[in-house]
Amino acid sequence: MSGTLTIAGLGPGSDALVTPEVSTALATATDILGYAPYVSRVAPRPGLTLHPSDNRAELQRAAEALRLAADGGEVVVVSSGDPGVFAMASAVFEALELAPQYQDLPIRVLPGITAMLAAAARAGAPLGHDFCAINLSDNLKPWAVIEKRLRLAAEADFSIAMYNPRSASRPDGFGRALAVLKDAGCGERLVIFARAISAPDEKIVTLTLDDATPEMADMRTLVIVGNSQTRRVGRWVYAPRQVR
Ligand code: SAH
Repeated sequence: MSGTLTIAGLGPGSDALVTPEVSTALATATDILGYAPYVSRVAPRPGLTLHPSDNRAELQRAAEALRLAADGGEVVVVSSGDPGVFAMASAVFEALELAPQYQDLPIRVLPGITAMLAAAARAGAPLGHDFCAINLSDNLKPWAVIEKRLRLAAEADFSIAMYNPRSASRPDGFGRALAVLKDAGCGERLVIFARAISAPDEKIVTLTLDDATPEMADMRTLVIVGNSQTRRVGRWVYAPRQVR
């Protein structure tokens, strides 16, 4: 008899931000697959096999999860944050398209608190008006697409949440992204650098885009660029509810 496949979001880092639904799925799993640092957030126990893998092995991991579930496992694929936001849920459905024999498996996607929501809550309410989210990694899309989306988001006056801003293998893209936004006239907008939200080394810095530098972001940072109305009140940053 076949098992089940659950794709679960572990939230931004703190155990307090894991949903009860996800905790239950982890507690009853026989197999947990995911990027090694996320799998290491799950405590080992008898009857549970942990399958940590490399960050780039997403499609292979998804295919293996389908196989294990078809063999009867209670399989959970974990992502950080929400599994549908730049994460494993899409990879599983991509693998399912390639392996239609698994399409009748019971599959569930369990939401988690995505980094942009955790970061926004810490800063105040910077996503209180219309916003968009952009993944700055050009591993899975051409840089020209990222630039075009940034330009149009700036023109439309969205607040912009930027995931994967900068990594050792992509040190230059974030500087280019800041330059695109400056060219689009966003120099005076507020930018929030939210690093390691809900982890012990959490840090939040807010300044104007003109004062922002590429080194302020790394792979543990979520960057939110405010819209033209985004402002400070005390130590908080918020987007007013009304746009005139
Ligand atoms: N599925 C995840 C996103 C994966 S992409 C989610 O929904 O949150 C990985 C990116 O998410 C990181 O490069 C960073 O930009 C952001 N991120 C994840 N956890 C974070 C945290 N605790 N604090 C700040 N940014 C975080």
